[in-house]
Amino acid sequence: MPGTLTSRLSATSETISLQPGPAYELWQLIRTLSSQVWKDFYVVFVSAVEAAEGGALELSDCQKLMARIYGERDAARGAEKTLLWMLSEAGEVADAYVKNSKNIGPELADLLAWMLSTCNVLGIDIQKEFLSRYSAGCPRCGQIPCICPVL
Ligand SMILES: [Zn+2]
Repeated sequence: MPGTLTSRLSATSETISLQPGPAYELWQLIRTLSSQVWKDFYVVFVSAVEAAEGGALELSDCQKLMARIYGERDAARGAEKTLLWMLSEAGEVADAYVKNSKNIGPELADLLAWMLSTCNVLGIDIQKEFLSRYSAGCPRCGQIPCICPVL
């Protein structure tokens, strides 16, 4: 994402137009901070505010959020390594399940994040792909719910 944090904050202040309240005060606090540590938090916060103002969070919003947080790093890493990290994360989900770990939720979130990063690197709009494949029901039998034999 181009520009300094300050310029990004200034640009954003014109577009998110928060009302006075706790969120506004928090945003003002973030605005006074300039350390690198706050960058990711700021991106997540603004995205959450935008999602709240725009209605329900959609899968495409999640993909855009990953692009904002990791887009440059994902592009530098490339498709092959990003795909391998995604598969590695799937292994961590399996590991958490086998160990009956409470981390399975966060691990699934990480897997989704890596999948969305992979989509960003490959230029795939996953919400569009998902709806095109599943919105009419099971791709095999065409039914909702699916009537195929259980695998
Ligand atoms: Zn089916």
